[in-house]
Amino acid sequence: MSTYPFTDYFKGFEKVNAVRRIFGERTEEVLRNLKVEFSGRRGYMGVSDVDGHLMISAHYLNNGDIIDIYLDVIHELVHVRQFMEGKELFDNRYDYVDRPTEIEAYRHAVEEARNLELSDERICEYLKTEWINDDELKQLAKTLNVKYAYVEEKEKERRRRF
Ligand SMILES: [Zn+2]
Repeated sequence: MSTYPFTDYFKGFEKVNAVRRIFGERTEEVLRNLKVEFSGRRGYMGVSDVDGHLMISAHYLNNGDIIDIYLDVIHELVHVRQFMEGKELFDNRYDYVDRPTEIEAYRHAVEEARNLELSDERICEYLKTEWINDDELKQLAKTLNVKYAYVEEKEKERRRRF
């Protein structure tokens, strides 16, 4: 497994308010030490529950929507902090849309989406992944105070995230 410094690929994130809200005064230190692994698998972005490094599909990075990727980085950085706090990231006692670690990560991503003035419809598009169904999207949107909008099948195919 090859890992690379996060800051080699993601420039200026230490200045982003949404990121500073996650790590506070430790922002520079955490980002300086964060490692990224680019996986050949199609699909995903996630955080290792072994050592907390960021895993990003090279395919997604090259082909995904830039706003989705940006919001995913915010989402995953919340998981990085949760990992540092010793929280279990993949707690299977909860369904994905009920899992406190996911809801917290999505809250940060949605707050940043609001800052970017994305519409509720566009935020729902962002929230829809292939592993949640329409009812779960409704529930997640409600939890996050986003007005639910139906997302077309072809739209949801674009987004993939852990
Ligand atoms: Zn997540």
